[in-house]
Amino acid sequence: MKTLGMYSIGVGDRFAHQAKAQLQACILGADAGVEVTPVWNKSNREHTIIGSEPASVRAAAGAAVAEMGWKREWFCDADHINLTTVERFLAPCDFFTIDVADYIGKPAEHSSIDAFLKRHPELVGSIRLEGAGEALEISAEMLARTVAKFLFAVQEAGKIYRRVEKAKGKGNFVTEVSMDETDAAQTPAELLVILAALADEGVPVQTIAPKFSGRFNKGVDYVGDPAQFRREMALDMAAIRHAVAAYGLPANLKLSVHSGSDKFSIYPAIHACMQEFGTGVHLKTAGTTWLEEIIGLAEAGGDGLALAKEIYAEAFAHAAELCVPYATVIDIDAARLPAPAEVAGWTSTQFTSALRHDQRNAAYNASLRQLLHVGFKVAAKMGERYLWLLEANEGIVAKNVTENLFARHIGPVFLGR
Ligand SMILES: [Zn+2]
Repeated sequence: MKTLGMYSIGVGDRFAHQAKAQLQACILGADAGVEVTPVWNKSNREHTIIGSEPASVRAAAGAAVAEMGWKREWFCDADHINLTTVERFLAPCDFFTIDVADYIGKPAEHSSIDAFLKRHPELVGSIRLEGAGEALEISAEMLARTVAKFLFAVQEAGKIYRRVEKAKGKGNFVTEVSMDETDAAQTPAELLVILAALADEGVPVQTIAPKFSGRFNKGVDYVGDPAQFRREMALDMAAIRHAVAAYGLPANLKLSVHSGSDKFSIYPAIHACMQEFGTGVHLKTAGTTWLEEIIGLAEAGGDGLALAKEIYAEAFAHAAELCVPYATVIDIDAARLPAPAEVAGWTSTQFTSALRHDQRNAAYNASLRQLLHVGFKVAAKMGERYLWLLEANEGIVAKNVTENLFARHIGPVFLGR
């Protein structure tokens, strides 16, 4: 059976050029004493914007694994798929993120709701969770409301899971269920009910991605109360441990944090919760590797810097259109975006200081960073011209990609430093 290890990191490689540099971050992690499984993820949305096929992700990752001599597990994630988009991911992927956020709140049949409530009287009352300071209090009315809200989505997850199982064979892939791309955060009590329902559906879920409270914008830090996040995550972990024992879910079931990358202010909380519960997480990062490519090009100067500026100017000109698919996960302050004419005069250091996510640097500009994050379509349109410069500057780009993943993500989350 394909089993995901305790610690794992989801990495995006939009242009399929950085798999080696990304894997190098996991190698540095192993050298430092922590085994972090790399999972290459690319959503249908990104494939559509770039015009790439899921098989290209597997090819690039597989080549990196062979070339670097990586002997441990690795996976390719069909990120945020559903029944309509899953087909082309079936062959090349061995990790499936079944996204059912859109089905939350849709009504399930009365008979299946009633059957769930009859089957699960244990979900009403004061549920003591081992390792948590507080019990979950679930009234009969609350349970009925929760089931009405989530059962249809869970049934949909079952349908998608069975489609994948039919194609891949039982046990030949890792199953994640995601509900993060929605408005309201799920409470730990809701998570427990969802897990009971997933077990009833026969979905062997190994990672679950709830929506946590606070904002998880792409490529920038968490917006919310880190202390509240920590309480919520601890209760979620306790609910997962309880569900594994009570409902026979896979023993390695863990949280998947669709971080959107760079949630530096809650990484200490995630690390502390994992220590407390002796569990791991799947840390899914967004495609910020692409930002490290631009940083590398800008740092290289010359043609690289010129291209970085050109990409910014194009992204600035088409900001509205580029932001549409990501509207719920970015917060750009247009007044903070420098005019392309100003950027045209920047040095390498000025450009990288604005873009690189270093909050101690006064020149760091979160709005510029988010605009470039969603601006990968501009580079995709440049085609060979962009890829050629990436290849010509491979060393300096790779250094930035590896450093970002290792020092800013694997270090604080998995090594606690
Ligand atoms: Zn997500």
